[in-house]
Amino acid sequence: MAQPLNNVLNPGGVLIVGAGLAGLFTALKMKGPVTVLAAASLGSGASSTWAQGGIAAALGPDDAPELHARDTEAAGAGIVDPAIAHLIANEAPARIEDLARLGVPFDRDAKGNFVLGREAAHSRNRIVRVTGDRAGAEIMAALIKAVRAEPRITVLEGLVAFELAIEGARVVGVYAHRAADRSGPVFIRADATIFALGGVGGLFEVTTNPPQARGQGVGMAARAGAVIADPEFVQFHPTAIALGRDPAPLATEALRGEGSILVNDRGERFMAVTHADAELAPRDVVARGIFREIRAGRRVFLDTRQAVGAKFPTAFPTVFETCMSAGIDPRSDLIPVAPAEHYHMGGIATDENARTSLPGLWAIGECASTGAHGANRLASNSLLEAIVFGARAAADVAHIVGADNAILTLPAHPSAAAPAALALATLRKTMTMNVGLERNHADLTAALAAIAQIERANAADVDMRNMTATALLIAGAALARKESRGGHFRSDYPRTDEAQAKRTFTTLGQVRAAMDGLKLPTRLEAVR
Ligand SMILES: Cc1cc2nc3c(=O)[nH]c(=O)nc-3n(C[C@H](O)[C@H](O)[C@H](O)COP(=O)(O)OP(=O)(O)OC[C@H]3O[C@@H](n4cnc5c(N)ncnc54)[C@H](O)[C@@H]3O)c2cc1C
Repeated sequence: MAQPLNNVLNPGGVLIVGAGLAGLFTALKMKGPVTVLAAASLGSGASSTWAQGGIAAALGPDDAPELHARDTEAAGAGIVDPAIAHLIANEAPARIEDLARLGVPFDRDAKGNFVLGREAAHSRNRIVRVTGDRAGAEIMAALIKAVRAEPRITVLEGLVAFELAIEGARVVGVYAHRAADRSGPVFIRADATIFALGGVGGLFEVTTNPPQARGQGVGMAARAGAVIADPEFVQFHPTAIALGRDPAPLATEALRGEGSILVNDRGERFMAVTHADAELAPRDVVARGIFREIRAGRRVFLDTRQAVGAKFPTAFPTVFETCMSAGIDPRSDLIPVAPAEHYHMGGIATDENARTSLPGLWAIGECASTGAHGANRLASNSLLEAIVFGARAAADVAHIVGADNAILTLPAHPSAAAPAALALATLRKTMTMNVGLERNHADLTAALAAIAQIERANAADVDMRNMTATALLIAGAALARKESRGGHFRSDYPRTDEAQAKRTFTTLGQVRAAMDGLKLPTRLEAVR
């Protein structure tokens, strides 16, 4: 949609929208001038800064990219693109070396080799870490320092992109407004626009993602007609601490490993009757068990009193501090928990060079869907995917050279209406209750109707338009997939159906058309 061109910034060249690991790494991999735009100041507002585990790469003497690719495919529940799994596994070691060269202080042994950790579903130790559980913060700190020292990189902080600018059929930049007061819009012109806008957690009521992660990248691209891949596949963390904080802090799974139990507000240990392994059942089973309790109107708590007790402050200092700050002493009190949206496997469909289906638009990081994760992400493959495809995007746009844009200034302008808090809260509740851990035809149909209503009632809200577009894609694709696979569970189709072992490729137009008759196509159009 055309916006009044109140302010036009005309750097040309390459514009990266989003400044998490994907965006900053790509800017640093480029040689020429580049503009990086971000909703918040560098380092904040990005999931990358909060990553604790690390990055997966086959670097150990007993490991090989082939094994890494195999684990990636197994985790993805039958729909990982094998070529992409091999591509990220093969390129991982070189990208880790890139990060080390950029100043990331990876944990190393006395001989200078990487210390490699193990995570769920990896058959080898292959997680490179930084200062224990501070991987994301340390990686981002090193990259921010490198970006600030690079005069060819112009950083525009505090600007929220809300719409793609299109000329003919080509993307020629974005429209944005200021995060602080929604003044604008500003048109930032570019010959190549790279979306690095992160995930969709903020579309759900409980999430581990920063508030900036509201699926705006997917929404903007989808509204411009881009093909979106696998939107129905969303990963949830079973035990976020339910303190009403947004985003929600995590209660590490190690607490259950220590023997802590889950109880509802009637004091019932519900997991013991749900699965033979009770609290140690697979992540998605535990998450669904908790969700069912909450949906039935009960509260759920982690009882660590017996299993952890007095050693809590030293054994789990981060969780201890979080609980104490809310007046909960986990040595004597129950910890309220709820599942939280954690990661989106789906996103803007991209090829092996991060190109989307829209000329002029590339996508990298969590907002893209490369085929690497299929229906479920293997732990620590998301930061890896961000840097592998960031490097590929940087190489693909290397021939596009804009003006030296280091002197951009943004003139002030009147503000747009503030976002409707109630509408956003309704959207997030709808996504969690109807499009979350457990889905069925009636709930999804109701969700589509509710999202469409929120969209209509808030048509003037430029940010909400993107959020509802992404929400419609997630719900629409979840309705179309009549089976359960990976992060997608349908209570009315609880089995995995081999005939549906394919990725989803769809568009917002297709989802809307399906909604008209509430009959979605069984076979969605392929991207290539
Ligand atoms: C608590 C937590 C722990 C995790 N641990 C790990 C781990 O150990 N290993 C792993 O591999 N993965 C982990 N993940 C997942 C991983 O961190 C993310 O998938 C990854 O960081 C995404 O990187 P990104 O650059 O695509 O997005 P982000 O890092 O989220 O960056 C997105 C950027 O886009 C900006 N933005 C958003 N919307 C707009 C807009 N409209 N206009 C302008 N800018 C905008 C944001 O401000 C931000 O700068 C974890 C995630 C969380 C939340």
